[in-house]
Formats: sequence, structure tokens, C-alpha cells
Amino acid sequence: MTGSQPEIVQVSEPVRTSSGWQPLTVGAGPVTAHLVNGVFGDPLLEVKFKSRRERLLFDLGDAAMLSRRVLHTVTDVFLTHAHFDHICGFLHFLRARMTGEYPPCRIYGPPHTADHIGNLIDGIAWDRIEDAGPEFHVADVSTDFITWSLLKAGHPAKRLEPQPRSDDVVCQHPEYQVQCVELDHGIPVLAYALNYSPEIHIDRARLDALELAPGDWITDLKRLLREGDIQALVELPNGEREMVAALRDALVTVLPGKRLVYATDFADTPQNRARLRSLAAEADLFFCEATFCAADLIQANDTRHLTARACAEIALAARVARLVPFHFSKRYTDRVGAVYAELSEALASVEQA
Ligand SMILES: [Zn+2]
Repeated sequence: MTGSQPEIVQVSEPVRTSSGWQPLTVGAGPVTAHLVNGVFGDPLLEVKFKSRRERLLFDLGDAAMLSRRVLHTVTDVFLTHAHFDHICGFLHFLRARMTGEYPPCRIYGPPHTADHIGNLIDGIAWDRIEDAGPEFHVADVSTDFITWSLLKAGHPAKRLEPQPRSDDVVCQHPEYQVQCVELDHGIPVLAYALNYSPEIHIDRARLDALELAPGDWITDLKRLLREGDIQALVELPNGEREMVAALRDALVTVLPGKRLVYATDFADTPQNRARLRSLAAEADLFFCEATFCAADLIQANDTRHLTARACAEIALAARVARLVPFHFSKRYTDRVGAVYAELSEALASVEQA
């Protein structure tokens, strides 16, 4: 393998166990990404930050494997589109959110996502819920606008005015941002990039050498560094005050931020390839569908899905570090090795070409 060829992250065999599809978990810097239903089951990627309780979900297929405890910590759900296998876990999620009090969960998706979610909520009789129903803020993301709808079980939906988009960012958080592009699958589909902030490491040996005990001041230091306020003063355990810039130079190592990209359900067209290549450029972790093998190219084209070869070519063109191919057709359940072999051959042959 050469330096520019992505490493393929594979699910272990057997792909199906007595409890369901074999899940696939991948660490990437400060996050852990968990493909809940493996590479054959419904798309559902759970992303957990090591430093925080909150989780993000990408797609919401069958969610039965996620506990209520996990679903209580979800702050944002990024849907690619509303085909059944990408949204059917919403009712399980809705039920989990009926006990306890949480801030509204944000859900993003292509145009009409708020209608789809609203219709799923309205399929339930809410006569006993009064004001205690779960709440969702849903963003219909089009090329030029984001339109938020405020949905609360048992209450009429409120649709807000469309907000013009100035860039491709849909979610901005102090520790990460999420960008998206629209792809064509016969209907609009969104692909997402999660960019997370640089990792700030405190050198324990240098801390000991300066006789500084760890404490809340380190949390303050990291926060001020993330905010870029290097002139601020931090109070140290010994009572002295020191400038953030000086503490950074003495104690801190900053690892560059990483990028995780999630893309599934789109046709192999030049425009889709160009948009995704740009979104996934230099990604550390690229979750990309590889639904069909080359022998089933006709089905791939008819259903507007990728072949393993197209997946490999996009990953190479985007120069990603690690490729996690998934959303394989169930026709390959008993020969997953053949799909991975085709991906590896495609990576090698394209690179040599
Ligand atoms: Zn689809």
C-alpha cells in the first residue's frame, strides 16, 4: 500500500449475529464513530465525543440497538433523505424522548424533512400528553435556504421564515461544525462533513516540572485557547496569574482538527462525484456507500447507488486517509469478502492507472 491509498476499515465476520448485524466502531481523534447496524443493516451512524456526553446521529434507520440512555444524549440528527431505511428509527427515538426532560433535538435533512418528521409524529394520538411531549427543531436544507420548523408532539407545527445560506455550514458548535452538500439520488440527498476542532493536549511532564497541579484552571485554559483569547489571564493553583499565550507555549501541544464525512444514496454522476470530492477532501474518515459490485452495475444505475469501484475512485480522488465502505446490498451477506476484494482491487488499479 502506498501513502496516498486509503486504508479500508472493514466489519468483522460473521456479519450477522444472533443479536443482529455486526456493528462497526472506528475511533478518530476525539470522536468514536459507531455504525450501529454494520455495513448491511439500515444506515445509522452514532458519533460520540470522548470529552462530552452528547452524541450526534447520521441517518436514523433501525434504532432498536440504541438504548434509551444513549438516545437521551442525542442533540442533533443529520438525515441524508427520507427513504424508509434512513428514517424508520424515528419512532423508536420519539418514544425514548417521551420520558425525562431534554432540550429540543435538532434534525437536519433535504427539503420536506419537516413534513416527513411531522407526519410521523402526527401518526400518534397525543390526547394525554398535554405540554410534556418531545420537541424537535427540524431544518429543511436547500441549496440557498434553511427553513426551520418547530415540532412538538400534540401541538401544531410552527414553520419559521426561510433563512438565506451564505456557506455550506448547517451546524456550528464551539468544538465542531457540520457542512453539507446536496447530491442526486432521484430525490435530493444531503452528504455531511463533521469538522472537529483541534485537540488540545496538556503535557503532564511539563506540568509536573513547573509544580502545577491539574484542576479547573486547565479547563479554563482549553476553553480560552478554543476561543482564541490568548491575552486572557488564568489563575494558577499557586495563586499566580499567567497569560494564556505563555501557558500555551509552556504546556500545550495542539493536534490538528479532523474531518469525518458521511455520504450514502446517490447516483454515480459527474456532478455528484465533484461535489463529494470537494466535501470529503483530505478527510480522516470517509463513510461512503458501496452498495453494489461491478457485476450488478445495472441495478446500481437503476437504483441510483454506487458500485464498489465508484466508491473507491471517489475516496482516492478526495485523498481520504481511511475509507469505511457501507450500505452493502444484502445480496452480498454471505460473501462480504468479495465486496472488500473489489474495493481493494479498485483502489490499487485506479492508483496505478
Ligand atoms: Zn435511498
